[in-house]
Amino acid sequence: MVWYEDTVSSLLRLSECFRLFMVTNQDGVAKGKISMEGVDRVNAYVASVLERRGAPIAATYVCPHDQGAGCRCKKPSPYFLEKAERDFRIDLGRSFVVGDHPQDVELAENAGATGIYVLTGHGRKHRAEIPGDSIVADGIGEAAEEILARGRRAGDGADREPDGREL
Ligand SMILES: [Zn+2]
Repeated sequence: MVWYEDTVSSLLRLSECFRLFMVTNQDGVAKGKISMEGVDRVNAYVASVLERRGAPIAATYVCPHDQGAGCRCKKPSPYFLEKAERDFRIDLGRSFVVGDHPQDVELAENAGATGIYVLTGHGRKHRAEIPGDSIVADGIGEAAEEILARGRRAGDGADREPDGREL
């Protein structure tokens, strides 16, 4: 597990205004490449580091199913985002999805949230596959700037629920 140097600081800034969620497709579980316990252990480690640093993850959602299995939870299905909306009373219309795969941009679209595509991870490889009007950031630091700028433009949000956001 390797962190980009600006990941924790960026999430810390975001956590002052947003609830943080992880939503992840792990079809390696269905394919037998990794166990669900292995996935849970990695996610628990990430969550524990962020919690310790003051940027806790509200919930982690994992789809362990195979692509062709026809499950309802695999991104870009909005299933987990809608669950977060119900369970945490977040406003998806004022929420953001940050991801390095075109399905993350699509997920945002399907959930009525705003997608931010990052060029780190798989981002550069798949860049040609995202819609031309997508918001693109170099990495999590720039994504956080974009989110905070948009949050401010949308109003100072007195007495509203915090928004959700995905890693
Ligand atoms: Zn699934």
